[in-house]
Amino acid sequence: MSAPSRLEVELGDRAYQIVVGEGLLDDLGAQVPLPLHARRALVVTQPPLVAHGHAPRVERALVDARLEVRRHVVPDGEVAKSAEVLAGIWAACADWPLGRDDVIVAVGGGVVGDLAGFAAATWMRGVGVVQVPTTLLAMVDAAIGGKTAIDLPQGKNLVGAFHQPLAVAADPSVLSTLPERLRIEGAAEIVKAALLADPLLLERLERDPAGVRAGEPELTRMLVLRAAGIKAEVVAGDEREAGARAHLNLGHTYGHALETLTGYGTYLHGEAVSVGLVVALELGADLGVTPRALVDRVRALLGALGLPTAVPRLDRAALHATLARDKKARDGVRFVLLEDVGRPVLRGVAAADLDAVLDRLEGPTDR
Ligand code: NAD
Repeated sequence: MSAPSRLEVELGDRAYQIVVGEGLLDDLGAQVPLPLHARRALVVTQPPLVAHGHAPRVERALVDARLEVRRHVVPDGEVAKSAEVLAGIWAACADWPLGRDDVIVAVGGGVVGDLAGFAAATWMRGVGVVQVPTTLLAMVDAAIGGKTAIDLPQGKNLVGAFHQPLAVAADPSVLSTLPERLRIEGAAEIVKAALLADPLLLERLERDPAGVRAGEPELTRMLVLRAAGIKAEVVAGDEREAGARAHLNLGHTYGHALETLTGYGTYLHGEAVSVGLVVALELGADLGVTPRALVDRVRALLGALGLPTAVPRLDRAALHATLARDKKARDGVRFVLLEDVGRPVLRGVAAADLDAVLDRLEGPTDR
């Protein structure tokens, strides 16, 4: 394999590296720092990662690094982020046992990362976790920043902890086994990262949307590196979301509500974020914050990437109730708006202003 690229998440004594490179999974033990006294590694993963051979590759690399390795397979899908499945990981740790110096390795998308990360945060009051994200969304977003959580029947991500990983190891070649729709949804978070911080990244996406959709290797590697770097910079500046980290919610205020109201499944997360970006930009334009030309530009890009931009008709009262319940809402409904590329602002938005935009935009769904 060629030498991987490395980014630093600068968090003082919790600093860690994001390592990006093709073939990385086969050399994991040498490429990421494992705890000095670690003897055992519990690999938490899901059936597709075993079937495609990604988890076994990681396990062989850990054995090469002289670790004793066990695999713990959890059910596929968001259902895995449950108290019951978490308790199953604790039981696997207890039965072995996995010691304080040992390590949990999360091999999968954001679901596995959140679940295994929370297991690592809680087992023995905290053991090391290596995040090996295998979806585009997890490589550029979920695996970075230390947020871990499980869901309750009452809502998503209600129980969790901040637990920064020992390292994040992203091997873009594993994305070739990802179903196309899942690869494309991840691009929404890359567009978001570009809008928050990087005009050049935005131009790069605009230049070759077909290459992004096709998962062209060189381009994908560059996009993962840059978007992961933007998230790393934001997290390093505001680990606990006291300020700038809230900007990462661009497109997520409406996007989360859309996911909730359509029952998770109609829209994948990235697809809901894509519609949420359209709403946030249109809202900004109506409020005189966002240049109209930027709205049109982003709509065109999202469409070219194969992401949804149509705003579906939702029960308006239910939408307002959901937005008000969002745990990120403080003084009214707060939206991240864009003054321009690289200039996000947090704004409390009146219900009437949101209604006016939605009255203009809402139509039949394109999902
Ligand atoms: P996911 O983890 O459910 O993965 C999607 C599907 O792809 C699953 O079926 C999985 O088994 C399969 N898969 C994963 N990698 C594959 C590969 N290389 N080849 C073939 N199949 C593969 O979905 P996701 O979009 O990665 O993550 C969504 C989760 O991430 C949500 O639970 C969300 O709450 C969480 N999230 C967390 C953060 C955070 O900061 N912690 C941020 C964003 C999202």
